Amino acid sequence: MDKTQWISTVESLLRANDGVRLEDASVPSVYRAVSRATMADILDTWESCKRGSKKRVGYLSAEFLVGRAVYSNLYNLGRLETVREWMAERGVDISVFEEIEDASLGNGGLGRLAACYLESGATVGLPLDGYGIRYRYGLFKQEFVNGFQKEEADDWQRCGDPWSYRREDESVLVEFADYAVRAVPYDMPVIGYGGKTVNTLRLWQSEEAEGFDFAAFDNMQTDKIAKNRIRAESISYALYPNDSTERGRLLRLRQEYFFTSASIQDIVRKHKAKGLSIDTLNEYVTLQLNDTHPVFAVPELIRLAMRDGLDFEAAFLLARSVFNFTNHTILGEALECWDMKRVRKLLPAISDILRLMQRRIAREFPDGSLYLIRNNTVHMANVAIYAGSHVNGVAALHTEILKASTFRDWYAVYPERFINVTNGVTPRRWLALCNPELSAFITEKIGDGWQTDLERLRDLSKYACDPTARSEFAKIKYIRKSLLSEHILKKEGVLLPPEFIFDVQAKRLHEYKRQLLNAFSILYYYFRIKEGKEPSFKPTAFIFGAKAAPAYYLAKAIIKFIQSIADKVNNDPEVNDKLRVVFVTDYNVSYAEKIMTAADISEQISMAGMEASGTGNMKFMLNGTVTLGTMDGANVEISEEAGIENEYIFGATVDEVGRVKENYDPHAIYESDPELRRIVDTLDDGTFDDMGTGMFKELKNSLFGGWSKDHYLVLHDFRDYVRVKSQLNRDYGSDEFLTKCILNTASAGKFSSDRSVLEYAKHIWKV
Ligand SMILES: *Cc1c(COP(=O)(O)O)cnc(C)c1O
Repeated sequence: MDKTQWISTVESLLRANDGVRLEDASVPSVYRAVSRATMADILDTWESCKRGSKKRVGYLSAEFLVGRAVYSNLYNLGRLETVREWMAERGVDISVFEEIEDASLGNGGLGRLAACYLESGATVGLPLDGYGIRYRYGLFKQEFVNGFQKEEADDWQRCGDPWSYRREDESVLVEFADYAVRAVPYDMPVIGYGGKTVNTLRLWQSEEAEGFDFAAFDNMQTDKIAKNRIRAESISYALYPNDSTERGRLLRLRQEYFFTSASIQDIVRKHKAKGLSIDTLNEYVTLQLNDTHPVFAVPELIRLAMRDGLDFEAAFLLARSVFNFTNHTILGEALECWDMKRVRKLLPAISDILRLMQRRIAREFPDGSLYLIRNNTVHMANVAIYAGSHVNGVAALHTEILKASTFRDWYAVYPERFINVTNGVTPRRWLALCNPELSAFITEKIGDGWQTDLERLRDLSKYACDPTARSEFAKIKYIRKSLLSEHILKKEGVLLPPEFIFDVQAKRLHEYKRQLLNAFSILYYYFRIKEGKEPSFKPTAFIFGAKAAPAYYLAKAIIKFIQSIADKVNNDPEVNDKLRVVFVTDYNVSYAEKIMTAADISEQISMAGMEASGTGNMKFMLNGTVTLGTMDGANVEISEEAGIENEYIFGATVDEVGRVKENYDPHAIYESDPELRRIVDTLDDGTFDDMGTGMFKELKNSLFGGWSKDHYLVLHDFRDYVRVKSQLNRDYGSDEFLTKCILNTASAGKFSSDRSVLEYAKHIWKV
């Protein structure tokens, strides 16, 4: 379509669907028309891609954190500028689409990774489709009331869902012991850069199995009618808001089986519709399990294969040749387990198959060293490793930890199954689209092509010490900071002067990520500035973005603590020309796109060994930000790529953590360090007010008392952290510092998700 055709398509869609003329149309109307015009435009490519390859990859994931689709789809199709101009001619800025909600069908890193992988798959031309759940409500929206987090429902379809088609005729029945539901697929196109490949993200929605119950209606049993409907729809009603951990709840079990059963039935049905028998499925399909949430797909495939006449052994071997498993965390409480009594009650056929699998492994390992079910509990990661071809960790360090400890016994028996695929992020969304200024700079220096061949960024290295390039880079960062500053002023009511250093920690709130350590460092500078001990401290704005799981008490306490610090610091005229603190509201993908481009410092300060990879760290790096971090997850590879002298690394390493923990005494550190003691004491000396909740006292207790005893070594790493943070503050603004920033962008090539998916394709999927 050229521009005129485009405009007339959009105009007729507006008339037909919303009954408005362009000049009277609301933003949501224009949004729907633009989206649908784009959908019509890609239809032929989409259809031919579905048939294009013999073997397809299915990426099974309970979460796809896709964010806002309109800009990235238009960008990938090369239409963004056309639409921008067309709207501008009518006096509308394309940024009006920012009022369209993100699709937040994921919690954080794991879900965002799935979205990046689909986009990269389509860009590099892999036949990669996603399968997940079409939650009615995505991750909650965050608000603050007196500094406390409050959760609101996320009605992401408020302006409709023009980026998907309901495929009623491809619905499948999913059966639980007590009732069955209908899984209705909604297909979203996944548009690769350049628009040559369009893959599919198929999200299942749960609905009532039978149609309307007229008998019940006749008998005035409206309660029964409503109940059945709610019961069915509840399965895909809401995303569980826990990042990394989910307690074994019945509805969660239903969700997991719901979308995996629907996906497997769908895949098998399509396979058989080609006239093929199920035992050849592995020649046509390979399935990636994104963490343990989709692992019920394994017994489900075995069940269907046995129903088609394969014996258990053949069905098991078929599954093994189809499935692969990605592990995302070593947090003990996140290794998913289910009580077999529950599984048997809800999914009797699946329970039987899991028992057959356990019997098989018990025959192979009579000493019980490897098992799937123990103490009547099924360990989903074990199922995935046993019944899959490959297991991968998500960063080099993480994979080493899996081999050496988490899955040591498995690694001893199946070493050839273990492989590392370091995570990546899509450079289209996380650089080209979100940072047009830096993108133009890069293209001007090294030419086009880096968007799909990110290793080319290396060519920027030769400009790292170039005075002109350095000052251009500094100007760009200043522009990005000004834009973020305006946005934050508007949204949060806090002014961050762009001349300040922007020191950012944006990620889910978790004790292991140690936002508390960052908070302590702010108080450290706060007290020292007030005492005149930091005469040359360069003004710094500390920016936080994070959601806490609604039931995670200590995470919420940390939010309230940081909010209290922000209140104190921002209103203290003695320090607020040196320090500002803001906790942004409702951190999500769209906010991240603004934040990542404007940061001077990327805080990646998890206790070593805890962050499997991180992907936020990569987004910052790509946008020319130095990492202030521990030797954890992909930070290790980031410092390898950029050179450790271009990052700010501190704290105990994995080995040191192990040694320190042997006889750790947080109280001794507290007693011997008066400055730190004063900071920790603000939790219960009346400096801050937790409004009678007792939260702050509990936070303090987590450092000394009970089980926890500063489990994540906040006190242990504190001194090294502020030492390096102060060094960074001294370095900031120098020519050498700008060189580090440019070298970070120049060294980020490895962290393209294009590289990641190609590694999966070569070593795991064999496509
Ligand atoms: C990238 C991203 C994450 C993951 O951040 P980490 O720092 O890797 O934990 C979480 N949430 C959003 C919205 C993101 O864009």
